[in-house]
Amino acid sequence: MSMRVVVAGGAGFLGSHLCERLLAGGAEVICVDNFLTGRPENIDPLRALDAFRMLRRDVTGSVDVAGPVDAVVHLASPASPVDYRALPLETLAVGAWGTRRLLELARRKGARFVLASTSEVYGDPQVHPQPEGYWGHVNPVGPRSMYDEAKRFAEALTTAHRATHGTRTGIVRIFNTYGPRMRADDGRAVPTFITQALRGQPVTVAGDGSQTRSLCYVDDLVDGLVRMLDAEHPGPLNLGNPSELSMLELARLVVRLCGEEVSIVFVPRPQDDPSVRRPDVTLAGEALDWRPRVDLVDGLSRTVDWFRNRAAGPPAALVP
Ligand code: NAD
Repeated sequence: MSMRVVVAGGAGFLGSHLCERLLAGGAEVICVDNFLTGRPENIDPLRALDAFRMLRRDVTGSVDVAGPVDAVVHLASPASPVDYRALPLETLAVGAWGTRRLLELARRKGARFVLASTSEVYGDPQVHPQPEGYWGHVNPVGPRSMYDEAKRFAEALTTAHRATHGTRTGIVRIFNTYGPRMRADDGRAVPTFITQALRGQPVTVAGDGSQTRSLCYVDDLVDGLVRMLDAEHPGPLNLGNPSELSMLELARLVVRLCGEEVSIVFVPRPQDDPSVRRPDVTLAGEALDWRPRVDLVDGLSRTVDWFRNRAAGPPAALVP
């Protein structure tokens, strides 16, 4: 019998790729999403499939699904700085109440539960690269705190549910991921740089551009999520690509791949912007036999192609 998987946040960037991958692997998928930051067009092509069902629900309210469920993946949350700063209370609510509702659903159904946590739980890290044993350096009242602390609370709740009820939980800490279906206006560096360059506008790099990130292509990330669903490991496990580059290097690479003659300009760097970010993925390698495979030039080229083929969206503005 095929697996039945609830994907909360399935209409978002990562969620829609996960839905597709699960369906391609023969699973039945129930996508639960309220379209707070996701887009119907991400999952519209899936609606014709018998194995796909869409439930328009806010997961902070009661979430029930008829019939058996083998796994629940909790991806529901505003995820880009533009989104979570605009939706601070919603972000905290979905990290707290949303996580609780979905944990209860998994417990009732005897299902595996996987929480999509984030590298942001490490804050502006003082240990580099970041292993799972590092507790982080987070400002609890800073401009990113609604997201960082929501995820830290969600991890604590997930851990408590496992200890108290024996819920089969797993936590993954996702590092910056990019690919087709990112929103041009979500403020993250990859879609911002690409849309600026494709429009022939100057590419805006924050600060002096020396801050680093490690970028994982969406297919690799989804592969790690599927492996975590099939495993029993409690985590937390880092999922990300350890090849690190500075934002200035990224901007130059994007400009080259877009093939446009545009300048790079520098804009002020926001408060609490992490200066370095790179996952230690040793544990995920051992526990899930997982490693990222798509290199940056290949992944960025696919992403540039996708943006090139889309109709122009609203003006891009960088908010790292
Ligand atoms: P996204 O905004 O594209 O997707 C999130 C989805 O959750 C959206 O479809 C949104 O409508 C839905 N959602 C939000 N609140 C909801 C609610 N209360 N009820 C139902 N649905 C709700 O973001 P994404 O980039 O796909 O991220 C998915 C998950 O992965 C998030 O939890 C995010 O924190 C985590 N994550 C993503 C990245 C990344 O680089 N993309 C990095 C670290 C962690």
